[in-house]
Formats: sequence, structure tokens, C-alpha cells
Amino acid sequence: MGRKGILVVVSGFSGVGKGRLMKLLTEKYGQYALSVSATTRAPREGEEDGREYFFRTKEEFERLIAEDRLIEYACYCDHYYGTPRDYVEDQISQGRDVILEIEQQGALKIRKMFPQAMLLFVMPPDAQTLEERLRGRGTEEEEVIRARLRQAVEEAREVEKYDYMIVNDDLEESVEEMHRLIEGQHNRIDRNGEFIQQIRQELLELAGVLGEDRAMARQ
Ligand code: 5GP
Repeated sequence: MGRKGILVVVSGFSGVGKGRLMKLLTEKYGQYALSVSATTRAPREGEEDGREYFFRTKEEFERLIAEDRLIEYACYCDHYYGTPRDYVEDQISQGRDVILEIEQQGALKIRKMFPQAMLLFVMPPDAQTLEERLRGRGTEEEEVIRARLRQAVEEAREVEKYDYMIVNDDLEESVEEMHRLIEGQHNRIDRNGEFIQQIRQELLELAGVLGEDRAMARQ
């Protein structure tokens, strides 16, 4: 039976360690395809166009929107972020589990468009740790850090709209937990309709044949 790919949406407060989590997960398990988003924000040190993001100007981004080449997009801290459509559709149809690491507005749009998508929220062990991680990153101005913490307060209000949460205390453990959760999702009854129908049909045919054999034996 060909396994269908799952669309997995991962959100979490800025600084919670989603990026490293995704990197490790995709390195460790080959079944995952990580979608690279387009954004209008400037690259951080060490980021490369086409690897962390497709860095685009506002005009270029608005053209992507107009041409319907994004599955979803959102404005976050004064910048656009969006998910390219082609890659996601292509990978899902090839049976790979596609991970979108996106913020909440986008996640909730995906939920509406793809009700079978799985929504995960990554939590810090506590708020203090989140602040320390944001500062420890050392790539952002104080003002940006404060804005991201305020954003976290807003995002915390909507966590119940997600299906699962992962507390990212130990990175390796979080990776395993995420993998287990996604694997479990493949076994849901509502994701396996075709397979179940096929088994029913085979059973019916087999039962029919057995019935005929017995009837023959009785003659
Ligand atoms: P950062 O600037 O820290 O890389 O990302 C800021 C936020 O934008 C993060 O919460 C990240 O998950 C989110 N984000 C990244 N790509 C996308 C996208 O394609 N769509 C949406 N809606 N959010 C995104």
C-alpha cells in the first residue's frame, strides 16, 4: 500500500528552537520534506537564500501572492512570510511527510484548507528559558526581542487550536517525540480509508470463494 504524505504544521514562539528541531528531525529521518518559505525579512547572519528562506523584496512577494503561488502567507512582525505551493503539493503526492514551520495565522489557514493536516506546537519548558534563548541567539536588537516576546503572549492565546504540543527541553528527545507523533498519525483510521476498503473487498471475495468451495465439497 502506498503511504500518503502528511502535511505537518509546526508552530512555536520565536526562539523556542523550532529551527534546530526541524533540522535534526529531517537529518535523522529521510521521510520528511521541509518546506522552504519565502519572506521579505532580511537574512540573518549565516542564512542563505533558498536554504533557510527564499529572501524576496516586497514587490516580488506580492507578485507570488497575485500569481497564487503560495498556499498561505501571513504578515509577522512587519514582514511577509509564505509557503510556496508547488513544492508542498509535489512532495505530498510522492508520499513524503511535508513539514511547514510557520506561525499561527498561517497554521490556522492550513487547518481550514487541509482538515487532515496535523498541527504541532513547540513549547519552551518555561517563559524564562524562552527569553534566554532569544537573547542567546545574539542576532537581534533589544527592540526586536521585546516585539517577539509580545508576539509570544498573543500566540499563547491560541495554542488550543493545535492538535499536539511538544515541550522542547532536550532537543534529541523532542525530535523523537515529534517523529513518534507523526508516525502515529499515519495509523489513524480516517487516513486509511482506501486501504480499509481494499481489505473489505478482498475479504468479501475470499469469503465468497470459500463459500463456493464448501458448496462444491458438499455435492
Ligand atoms: P523568523 O523570522 O524567526 O525566521 O520567523 C518568524 C516567524 O515566521 C516564525 O514563527 C516562523 O515559523 C514564521 N514563518 C516562517 N515561514 C512562514 C510561512 O511560510 N508562513 C507563515 N505563515 N509563517 C512563516
